[in-house]
Formats: sequence, structure tokens, C-alpha cells
Amino acid sequence: MGIGELESVLARARSLCVLTGAGVSAESGIPTFRGADGLWRQFRAEDLATPEAFARNPLLVWEWYAWRREILHGAQPNLAHCALAELEASRAGSASAFTLITQNVDGLHERAGSRKVIRLHGSIWELRCTACGAERQDYSVPLNPFPPRCTCAQQRSLEGVAEKTLMRPGVVWFGERLPEQAWRDAAAAAAAADVMLVVGTSALVHPAASLPLLAKQRGAFLVEVNPEPTPLSGMADLVLTGKAGEVLDRAVSKRPVL
Ligand code: NAD
Ligand code: ZN
Repeated sequence: MGIGELESVLARARSLCVLTGAGVSAESGIPTFRGADGLWRQFRAEDLATPEAFARNPLLVWEWYAWRREILHGAQPNLAHCALAELEASRAGSASAFTLITQNVDGLHERAGSRKVIRLHGSIWELRCTACGAERQDYSVPLNPFPPRCTCAQQRSLEGVAEKTLMRPGVVWFGERLPEQAWRDAAAAAAAADVMLVVGTSALVHPAASLPLLAKQRGAFLVEVNPEPTPLSGMADLVLTGKAGEVLDRAVSKRPVL
């Protein structure tokens, strides 16, 4: 049992669905929310990553994102991101399906070469207007010290609409709905999977955490990779207790699936 079994499960999978969380980026030096290094100043992520926190104190929340972007700027994808990109590439053009779903907002899967990523929680590299919903990409580091106003601000003030027009990070905050299309695609992939691989997520943030349950209900073989037990561990068919980079690098064979 262990890496060898994961290797053969992956090689046999006809429809493989992977769900990743903050833990997959931990070996790149990116703090998780619930790990020992999850605090920023004295704040917990749950008290910053909410629409209420941004409405109350936009500067504070903005500053936290600026700090997270700086960490990301100096970081590189790790062996886990690379193994997952490799897995996708090795299955391209074969009859076997592959879907990568992430709760991460950091863009490291894409930087490692993953081509199709379902981002359930948006991207830290996007900004979205709190009034009109207009989105734009923004890769600047350091981030402008103040959240900018949207281009709709002028028009809105002419019309006497008193709505706030600040740009906010283009991520899904606690209590917000997931992007509809991403959720539909993720649920369909989980329901169709014969193997579901869950890497580096505490499995506490719903609805993302319900995807492995859905896959399991539909008969998928459920694999978890995490150094700590989670609420999923008890129902997983295979639990690999370890770091994502170490486990996946060893388990992902570099042979193409025929
Ligand atoms: P989480 O912080 O709740 O849990 C992280 C999990 O990763 C834990 O179970 C922990 O044991 C595990 N872990 C730690 N180091 C690991 C390693 N080296 N390999 C494998 N697993 C490891 O994160 P979550 O479950 O993703 O949910 C929290 C929310 O936080 C998500 O919505 C996510 O979008 C957001 N988040 C994203 C990032 C990012 O984009 N990198 C970082 C922090 C939080
Ligand atoms: Zn706007």
C-alpha cells in the first residue's frame, strides 16, 4: 500500500478528477489558511476573506492581498504542481479524461504548465468592481497601496448612484457563491470520475469539499494526499500521509497512458 498503489490507480484511471487546496502550494512557501503560519498580523483568514471585512475596512483587506501577492511573486511551482501538469500532459490525446479542480487562487498550477484548470475560488491576479462586476487582470507587485475605483465610477456619480465602486480581489470569499460555470464543470467531472485524487485540502470549505463525497457516492476510488488527517480520511480508499510534492512526484510515472 502506498505510492506504488497510487501509481497503479492513476495508470488505470479512465476518468481522473483531481481536487487541490492550499496544501498543494505549501511546499512553494505559500501559507495555508489553517496551518501554523496562517495568521497575518493578528488576523485569521476567515476574518479577512469576507465581503463584510472588505466593506468595513477595504484598506486592511487590500493590504493582506498585497502581502499575499508579494509572497507569490517570489514563489515557484513545486513538484506537486509539476506532477499534476505532467499527468494532464501524459493523458492528452488518450481516451482517458483528466480534470484538475483547484480551490487555490495563486495561479501556480497554470505556471507549472497545467492547461485546463477549473478555478473554483477565482484568482488573486484578477480584480473585480464591487458595483458593476467588471473584471480585469492585474499582475502588479507591489500592488497599488489603495484599491482603485472602477471606470464605472464617473458614470455612477453623474447618475447620482451612491454605490461603492472600489475594485476588489477577484476571488470567492467565505459566504459567497462559486462561479456557476466552474461549479457545474467541477461537479460533472467529480460525478463522472472513476478515480478522485484530493490533495492538500482541509476538506472543510464547502461546497468544494462536497466534490469528493459526490465522486465517492458515484463509485469513484477516493485517494487523499495530506500530511494531516481530514474529515475525508475516514472514507478514502487510499490515504497517503505526506507532503504533496514528495508523494506526487514519486507516484506520477512519466510514461504516457496508452
Ligand atoms: P486549508 O488552509 O484549510 O488547508 C490546507 C490543508 O493542506 C491542510 O489540510 C493541511 O494539512 C494540508 N497541507 C499542508 N501542507 C501540505 C503539503 N505540503 N502537502 C499536502 N497538504 C498539505 O486550505 P483549503 O482546504 O484549500 O481551504 C481554504 C481556502 O483557502 C480555499 O478556499 C483556498 O482558496 C484558500 N487558500 C488558497 C491559497 C492559495 O491559493 N495558495 C492559500 C491559502 C488559502
Ligand atoms: Zn464598475
